[in-house]
Amino acid sequence: MPKILVVEDEKTIADIVAFNLSRENYEVEVAYDGMEGCKKALRPDIDLILLDVMLPGMDGFEICKRVREQSEVPIIMLTAREEEADKVFGLEIGADDYITKPFSMRELTARIRANLRRQSGSEPKVAESDLRVGKFEIFFDAHIVRKDGVALDLTAREFDLIRFLCENAGRVISREELMQKVWGYEYYGDLRAVDVAIRRLREKLEDDPASPRYILTKRGVGYVMSL
Ligand code: CA
Repeated sequence: MPKILVVEDEKTIADIVAFNLSRENYEVEVAYDGMEGCKKALRPDIDLILLDVMLPGMDGFEICKRVREQSEVPIIMLTAREEEADKVFGLEIGADDYITKPFSMRELTARIRANLRRQSGSEPKVAESDLRVGKFEIFFDAHIVRKDGVALDLTAREFDLIRFLCENAGRVISREELMQKVWGYEYYGDLRAVDVAIRRLREKLEDDPASPRYILTKRGVGYVMSL
């Protein structure tokens, strides 16, 4: 049973979310402030974190950064509607997703399921790669991408993104299609998440992220993995 940590100082929201998630058969932990949230977020038994931004003690961004130094556990940021810039910032520092308050439980559980599915779980294995594009080798089950034989340190989302790009190497893919295929659900049109994810991915795999050679931009169309 996946264990979900809810970090939210608004007790009513936290308790409603916790109640509904336990009805969906998740184990739920709740933290009502930033310090407690950060401590619990670093526990290895947590499978996914729902993380509010504005928290007493330590804000959600700081918690997200600290967690990312140690683990790739899926993080969904809970942002207020007016905090538009927060969404992109959250993704920049390593959150996997965000959901805007107020949200429905149905929407939230759909996001949780999608993000848990993406989480990598299997051990690395030494075997033939499933796909090779240029310098990149991809191992589907192990969720590993190697460049020149060296494994890249990728989040689950970044893995899905590079895998999809490589499976379609040479074809220009629109941001809309990437959003649909990689994120796996309708994103209400906020395609900047794709650009942010591509930028982060380039920082990890390009020799010079400022002039990419592998993931190329086709201005006004989308992105293409060079062959
Ligand atoms: Ca709050």
